[in-house]
Amino acid sequence: MTMGNHYDVIIIGTGAGGGTLAYHLAPSGKRILLLERGGYLPREKDNWESRAVFVESKYRAKETWYDKDGNPFYPGIQYYVGGNTKVYGAALLRFREQDFGEVRHHGGISPAWPLSYRDFEPYYTKAEHLYHVHGQRGADPTEGPASAPYRYPPVSHEPRIQELFDDFRRLGHHPFPLPLGILLDEAEGKVLHTSACVRCAAFDGFPCLVNGKADAQVICVDPALEHTNVELLTGACVERLATDPSGRVVTKIVARRNGSVEEYSADIVVVACGAVNSAALLLRSANEKHPAGLANNSDVVGRHYMRHNCTAFMAISKDPNPTVFQKTLALNDFYFRSDDWEYPLGEIQMLGKSDGEMLQGEAPGWAVWKPEFALDFLAEHSIDFWLQSEDLPHPDNRVTITQDGRIVLSIQETNVEGHKRLTAKLKDMLAEIGCHDQLVHRSLYLGKDIPIGGTAHQAGTVRFGRDPKTSALDVNCKAHDLDNLYVVDASFFVSIAAVNPSLTIMANALRVGDHLLERLGSAESRK
Ligand SMILES: Cc1cc2nc3c(=O)[nH]c(=O)nc-3n(C[C@H](O)[C@H](O)[C@H](O)COP(=O)(O)OP(=O)(O)OC[C@H]3O[C@@H](n4cnc5c(N)ncnc54)[C@H](O)[C@@H]3O)c2cc1C
Ligand code: SF4
Repeated sequence: MTMGNHYDVIIIGTGAGGGTLAYHLAPSGKRILLLERGGYLPREKDNWESRAVFVESKYRAKETWYDKDGNPFYPGIQYYVGGNTKVYGAALLRFREQDFGEVRHHGGISPAWPLSYRDFEPYYTKAEHLYHVHGQRGADPTEGPASAPYRYPPVSHEPRIQELFDDFRRLGHHPFPLPLGILLDEAEGKVLHTSACVRCAAFDGFPCLVNGKADAQVICVDPALEHTNVELLTGACVERLATDPSGRVVTKIVARRNGSVEEYSADIVVVACGAVNSAALLLRSANEKHPAGLANNSDVVGRHYMRHNCTAFMAISKDPNPTVFQKTLALNDFYFRSDDWEYPLGEIQMLGKSDGEMLQGEAPGWAVWKPEFALDFLAEHSIDFWLQSEDLPHPDNRVTITQDGRIVLSIQETNVEGHKRLTAKLKDMLAEIGCHDQLVHRSLYLGKDIPIGGTAHQAGTVRFGRDPKTSALDVNCKAHDLDNLYVVDASFFVSIAAVNPSLTIMANALRVGDHLLERLGSAESRK
């Protein structure tokens, strides 16, 4: 290894966690290397083609994982600069204040985090500003206090969604504009000439052809690379981390790149490969001092995998729904309880608008359901919802690796009753406003037939905490067992709440970034 391969900081993975951290550290002048297994997501017409994205899964990783019985499945995961944020729906919500404490659910306890909402609040604000979150404070009665307003106004509703919003209000509910990370300038519902986003139908699950989505590549990695002290190597898949004989220091990062093995080293090593791959990397890096996997004296690495209990639904209305950009409304009235249930149910959001091509990807189920309906007709008359409830961190829901290094994901459902009740609530609400005559399952994110493949919201596999016996990371997301190893992606979650995970991952990356700047002697944090 030459000295040229030694850095102050190496960050492995460039998604919501790694990309945001790189952005935060870049102005420090420290020598920083990003190692990313993917390349840049190609900008091409197919970015916006439903057939390419949803039927042919063109941008998904060609990778096979296995369930606990050894059955192969195809995870919903993408390896690119920017990670999964290249295709995410950019719904960027804070955890509720209560989510940081212990929460009693019907299915058990959602454990308390070692830090409070107050600790995260300044970083939530910074992350919202950084990722251009468009939203409206005070509209969601469950939201926690915020130290600053959103910097951008909420994305406007199109007429059919405004009607839905008004109908929900009439029923006594509290719908609110879904906070979205989007580079959109609009006035009176019209896109301005200055806007990167053109407000098309291809928001949710598609990459953005015109870089209008606030993803980690556009917002963080590209600007970080403008600093000459930051380098990016794409196609660099890290296979193993090696330590010194004491086991306290990571001394070598072994990556496969262009078919050959390369080695790098850094004073500080940050793993940010996403919750499944970060756990897998630590487990694959077992050595004499760390026989159960790196940073795993606690035996928690790989455990407590969470992903939300979620369902995509279509309400099929008699009237057509001509909405183009549909993902503008959410409702948290059942987040903590309902009038007839003392436990949390979850959150309701709009989804991107479905079309016939998307449904074709799910055709077998549909064909059985109502073969006489053309898929295009269904899509044209649909209003699409995303229902999301908290699943609980069960130690046996876990990532393990086989002897030859393949990923095994073992899951069992947790805390499903609240989700069933949330679904029932939505059905009742839609019936009350006469919105539909059928409410049917979609499997846009969560393959209905292979629910284990729904890995979009993966979290929790390298949890942080104060007790090294029950957590792998300390409150700064440094491994308890090592001096220079950090994990800064969705792995650190102690619980997953019922909101989308990315804003919390980004806020945490900024928080850990402040700690690292201090450790590196560049304490002036980025304003
Ligand atoms: C279709 C879809 C829609 C979503 N919508 C939303 C939403 O609306 N709101 C929301 O909050 N979240 C959403 N999510 C989830 C969100 O994308 C993830 O929570 C977030 O990206 C996770 O951040 P991360 O840093 O943990 O991992 P990622 O963003 O996945 O980044 C991990 C990075 O590590 C790289 N990597 C992995 N292994 C290695 C290795 N061995 N060596 C080198 N590099 C490696 C990967 O290529 C990737 O770049 C969605 C996800 C999907 C798939
Ligand atoms: S809605 Fe905007 S951000 Fe989304 S894909 Fe279209 S142009 Fe891009």
